[in-house]
Amino acid sequence: MSSIHSNTQVKGFQEHEIEQLRKEFPILHQSVNGKPLVYFDNAATTQKPKVVIESLTRYYFELNSNIHRGAHYLADKATTAFENTRQLLHGFINSDEAEEIIFTQGTTDSINLVANSYGRKFLKEGDEVIISGMEHHSNIVPWQMVCEEKKAHLKIIPVEDDGTLNIEAFKGLLSEKTKIVSVVHISNALGTINPVEEIISLAHQIGAVVFIDGAQASAHLDIDVKKLKCDFYAFSGHKVFGPTGIGILYGKRKLLEAMNPYRGGGEMIREVTFEKTTYNDIPFKFEAGTPNIADVIAFGTALEFTSKLGKKNIAAYEEELREYCTTKLLEIPEIRIIGTAPDKASVVSFLVEGMHPFDVGMMLDAKGIAVRTGHHCTQPLMQRFGIEGTIRISLAVYNTFSEIDICVEALKEIIKKWK
Ligand code: PMP
Repeated sequence: MSSIHSNTQVKGFQEHEIEQLRKEFPILHQSVNGKPLVYFDNAATTQKPKVVIESLTRYYFELNSNIHRGAHYLADKATTAFENTRQLLHGFINSDEAEEIIFTQGTTDSINLVANSYGRKFLKEGDEVIISGMEHHSNIVPWQMVCEEKKAHLKIIPVEDDGTLNIEAFKGLLSEKTKIVSVVHISNALGTINPVEEIISLAHQIGAVVFIDGAQASAHLDIDVKKLKCDFYAFSGHKVFGPTGIGILYGKRKLLEAMNPYRGGGEMIREVTFEKTTYNDIPFKFEAGTPNIADVIAFGTALEFTSKLGKKNIAAYEEELREYCTTKLLEIPEIRIIGTAPDKASVVSFLVEGMHPFDVGMMLDAKGIAVRTGHHCTQPLMQRFGIEGTIRISLAVYNTFSEIDICVEALKEIIKKWK
């Protein structure tokens, strides 16, 4: 740990607790290019603790069976474990009911589900869908596709120079034509925490439904869909210490019931004849085919792991890390931070004067430091800032102050050599 921070109690966690926590993540303890790995690409995906990896393998060693349909011991055990994750999610996001949680392949899949099942059913020619200028491509393209099909229009909330949304401009965009508003909770490229409660309340005043892309929020913020009053909320398991290929869509019961199924097949039906099919109740209506059973179960383990750490503790610790990282980076005159919103979480995006972000990323990688470079799947946002991309440090609860020191020293060396 950094000498500056040794023996200092950080809000949320003490240093020795983080050292203990790191032991839970086997992947962190390896050398990359001859240096100890510094993993700063957590917004892309988080690493998995042992309990999650063990949960995955335990399923295949002890439980593997198809769920819901089988009338035997293993099928029963697997179904109970699978549905237990739905119950955990119900608590994790404080939904009214567990049935309001649909398992999907991840955030992207959840957005596509709503764009197709809700958008294609309810959007009409001339209607408007509002997204923001800082959306991930996953929260742009599905809406563009459905708007094109329905001859509806996509409107964009502008982004200010500091990386906040222009809420006054948003108010100006809202009208009786607005049917859907879909915005990101925390920007993956800038780290901005958006005022989603205000956005939801404004959109509801004119009767629009609101989708919140929680991909980056799930591991960093307490999510309470009842408090937010959002209509839909989505996130991916892999960004909250769980496996890839699994995520959720939360939707209010009355909306989910009014929507058409997205995919047809097994499990989503009540009765099939060649003349007509009737559909199952929610959530199964949206879960056609054999689901990703092992990953759902391990996702549940990841949620328990996260809840045990406590979101408030995680957020407080990460806030200290991010502030420290920002301060240290700003001591380097060649560095410019992109995204300086007052309300931010765990992402520090920056540019090095005179250097391409990709080159910086490669040179950091040569020193064992994993950052992400490029447009972060937010090309329109990069265009807004007149840049091709950034270098992004994204922090997780298992990162340390000394890792930030290592990265900052590496950047100083790289810049000195480049000049
Ligand atoms: N939205 C945001 C804000 C994201 O950061 C991501 C992942 N980078 C996504 C959506 C898409 O998530 P996934 O790839 O897990 O579907």
